[in-house]
Amino acid sequence: MKYQLLENLDLTDKTVFLRLDLNVPLKGTKITDETRILRALPTIQHILKYTNKLVIGSHLGRPKGKVNPKFSLEPIGLRLSDLLKVEVAFVKEYKEAPIDQLLHQLGKNRIILLENLRFYPDETENQSDFAKLLSKGVDCYVDDAFGCMHRAHTSVSALADVFPKDRKAIGKLVQEEVEALDKIRLQSKAPFTLVLGGAKIADKIGVLLNLIDSCNNILIGGAMAYTFMKELGYGIGQSKYESDASRIVNSILDNAKARKVQIMLPEDHVCAKSLEATETFVSEKTVPEGAFGLDIGPKTVEAYKNVISKSKTIFWNGPLGFFEREEFRNGTFEIAKAIASSGAFSVVGGGDSVAAINMTGLSEKFAHISTGGGASLEYLEGKSLPGLKALEL
Ligand code: AMP
Repeated sequence: MKYQLLENLDLTDKTVFLRLDLNVPLKGTKITDETRILRALPTIQHILKYTNKLVIGSHLGRPKGKVNPKFSLEPIGLRLSDLLKVEVAFVKEYKEAPIDQLLHQLGKNRIILLENLRFYPDETENQSDFAKLLSKGVDCYVDDAFGCMHRAHTSVSALADVFPKDRKAIGKLVQEEVEALDKIRLQSKAPFTLVLGGAKIADKIGVLLNLIDSCNNILIGGAMAYTFMKELGYGIGQSKYESDASRIVNSILDNAKARKVQIMLPEDHVCAKSLEATETFVSEKTVPEGAFGLDIGPKTVEAYKNVISKSKTIFWNGPLGFFEREEFRNGTFEIAKAIASSGAFSVVGGGDSVAAINMTGLSEKFAHISTGGGASLEYLEGKSLPGLKALEL
C-alpha cells in the first residue's frame, strides 16, 4: 500500500481531526440508511483506543456554502453517540471560535462532531486559510471519507497538506476500498466481467476504457443499453438514451473489437407504454414504436447470468433497469443474485446498485461494496484522487 496507514500512526494522547463521509440519506431528521455511519466505526474505535481527543468533520448533501438546517449533521451526531457509547459534543460554529478554542470541550468519553463543513463556502474551495483554521491545535489528521476522496475540497486536500507525513493517514475504510479496487484495477483474475447499467454513459466511459485491456466481458443494461443499440441501428422506441454519445459509443465498440472483449447488449426488454404504466410486456431485441424499454428481459437475464457464473472477477455499477419501480427491478435483482452466488471476487460501486443489493439482502455475499460511487469510478479510471494523493507515503 503506497499510503500512510492508520495503524502506523502514533496516536497516543494526540488530538486527531478525522474526516468522515457521514453523508447519509435523511427523511427529515430520520436516517434512512446508516451504512456510511457503520462503516466509519472501526476507524473511530481504533483512534479512541489511543486518545479521546477526537474532532470529526464531514459534509452532508450540497448546502452550497450556506447554513441550511435540512443538511445539519446533528441527527448523525446523536446516532454516533448511541453507537459509540460516548458523548458527542455537536459544534455548530467553528469559524469565529476555531478548533483550538473548542478542544477544552473534549474529554474522556466526549468527542466533537463539527456541523456540516459545506455550510462554509471555503470547504469546496480547497482553501489554505480554512485548512489552517481547522488544523489549529490538532496533532494528527486521518481521512476515512472515501466517498469524497475525488474532491479537491479543503478538508480532504488542503487540510491534509498542513500535516507532515508522519502525522496523517488514511482510515480503515479507505484502506479497505483501495485494496478491493486495486484487485479489480490491477490484479483481476480472468474471466473478468464488467456489468454496467444506469443512464449516463459519460460517468462510466473512463472506467470502460481503462479496464477494457484487462476485462473479457462487458454486460450492458439500463438506459445505457439503448444508447448503444440506437448507434447500432436497432429500434429503441421511446426508451431513454443519450443523443450526443455517438463518438463515445463507437470508441468503446472499436476498442472492444480490437481487444477481443465481448460486449453484450439486451436480447429482449421489459417494456411499458409510459414510465407510470402498470401494464408491462416483453419485446424482442427491437423495442416497438411508442414503447419504453425499462428492464432487461428474461432471455437477457439468462444470457448475462451464464457469463456471470463463469467469471472470476466482477465489477458492477448501475442498475439494469428502472429499478425504483417494482415492475422493472427483476433484471437488477436477478443480476445481483447471480453475482452473489457466482463465487467471483465481486465489487459493486454506485448508490443505485448498492441500494438494489440492500433491497435483496445479499450484501454479505459481495467481496466489497464501495461507499463511494463517483470516487470508486474515478479510482478505477486510474485518475489520481486528491484525497489519496495528499496521503501518499
Ligand atoms: P446512473 O446515475 O447513470 O447510474 O443512472 C441510474 C438511474 O438510471 C436510475 O434512476 C435508474 O432508474 C435509471 N434507469 C436505468 N435503466 C433505465 C431505463 N431503461 N429507463 C429509464 N431509466 C433507467
